[in-house]
Amino acid sequence: MTASVIDGKAFAAGLRARVADQAARFEQAAGRKAGLAVVLVGEDPASQVYVASKAKQTAECGMASFEHRLPEDTTQADLLALVDALNANPAVDGILVQLPLPRHLDEQQVVARIDPDKDVDGLTPLSSGRLALGQPGLVPCTPLGSLMLLKDRLGDLSGLDAVVIGRSILVGKPMAQLLLAENCTVTVAHSRTRDLAEVVRRADIVVAAVGRPEMIKGSWIKPGATVIDVGINRLPPEEGKTKGRLVGDVAYAEAAEVAGAITPVPGGVGPMTIAVLLRNALVAAHRNAGVALDD
Ligand code: NDP
Repeated sequence: MTASVIDGKAFAAGLRARVADQAARFEQAAGRKAGLAVVLVGEDPASQVYVASKAKQTAECGMASFEHRLPEDTTQADLLALVDALNANPAVDGILVQLPLPRHLDEQQVVARIDPDKDVDGLTPLSSGRLALGQPGLVPCTPLGSLMLLKDRLGDLSGLDAVVIGRSILVGKPMAQLLLAENCTVTVAHSRTRDLAEVVRRADIVVAAVGRPEMIKGSWIKPGATVIDVGINRLPPEEGKTKGRLVGDVAYAEAAEVAGAITPVPGGVGPMTIAVLLRNALVAAHRNAGVALDD
């Protein structure tokens, strides 16, 4: 069997087009653009690329983009004051503080300060609580994007066995909550899980969010399973090259021989993350402005 490839890039492009359409209608109804603020502290090169890309795509979707770049030595008090100002600014519907923050800053305190109704990353304690309780709220972008790909491929997920490998706050835990809400039977595996291969073999749905290159082997995958590979790992450069290849957490070539469907890396879950961020900002804008979102 050769798995069909789940094209996250194409799905994300479609999602962005829908967001752009809805953003234009929002502007007409609310008399202002939906607004997304992104805060970057310091000079981390990867974060700079993400933030520039988020700002560009926000503007391309017809939303207002507010970029705040603060120096590496920003104090906790100054950063909290900026979050407070963005919370109070009615033109700002979504606030994203790019993580990781420089070491001297208390990340948890900063994230918790974001107004949960503007928490487009879905990382505040209230957003996590709402997700666990099944209440409406903003959901972390990468797991929500992974769920969209799964539902697009499989339709109803009810009763399926799902294994999530990884239990981070950013990916693994919210992913498990989302699958549970879809009536999957969910197992969450992590670094202390015994006999991971056996656990994975039971699963109709495998979501890998570990951060270890090609750790999940093809022989672990149940024939016909749907595999969502969240991992993004850069291998050491091959001879004569300056940059190594990007690979996921799943041994793609092997797994594609067994799985029913699989996301590639790059081009699978990766492109979904920013598209879902824009969607979250739009959802927040509608709620904040009291305008109905017609999907
Ligand atoms: P974390 O490092 O926060 O979490 C990794 C998880 O994997 C932990 O729960 C850890 O277990 C578990 N783990 C580590 N080693 C093993 C092992 N040998 N066997 C089983 N489980 C193991 O990573 P993130 O969740 O933030 O990210 C995971 C991957 O997803 C990374 O490659 C990251 O780059 C990628 N990512 C991709 C995004 C995208 O846009 N596509 C967005 C976010 C992340 P324990 O808790 O026991 O330590």
